[in-house]
Amino acid sequence: MKDLLAQLWTPEVQTAFVFAVACLVILYVLSIVWVARDAYLRGTYWYAWAVVALVPLLGVIAYCLLRPPLLLIDRDEQELEVALKQRQLMKYGECAQCGYPVEADYVLCPNCHTQLKNLCPSCHHALDPRWSVCPYCTTPVAGQAVQQRGASQQARRAGGVR
Ligand SMILES: [Zn+2]
Ligand SMILES: [Zn+2]
Repeated sequence: MKDLLAQLWTPEVQTAFVFAVACLVILYVLSIVWVARDAYLRGTYWYAWAVVALVPLLGVIAYCLLRPPLLLIDRDEQELEVALKQRQLMKYGECAQCGYPVEADYVLCPNCHTQLKNLCPSCHHALDPRWSVCPYCTTPVAGQAVQQRGASQQARRAGGVR
């Protein structure tokens, strides 16, 4: 038996064995680096996960199973997207009368013709009803009653001027 082992344990086999072990060690080190880096990017305690990853194979598998689902960068991007959508929603509104979706610069509702905004008598920009002066041409505007059914005709006339 010993002779057989000695016969098999040739320099070539030794080299191959050392090579295989070296590969495994490199793989092991790389897996720890990957776990630490991935955990860091996901915004978790990466040093804790690096310690877990020190357990060969099992550590990496445990991390793959338990790691937080979102990358920190992804999460930032998602928050940005939500903020953007909220801004877009702010740009749009609903008609107070019929609930039809209207844009912020609509002067009257395209559905029920309710006046939503005042019009500057001078430059015909749409103005917020709370404004007492036109921010585009500095013309003072009288506070008109808006979002009333009776105002629709007035708005249609104003729209005709535009
Ligand atoms: Zn409407
Ligand atoms: Zn104006």
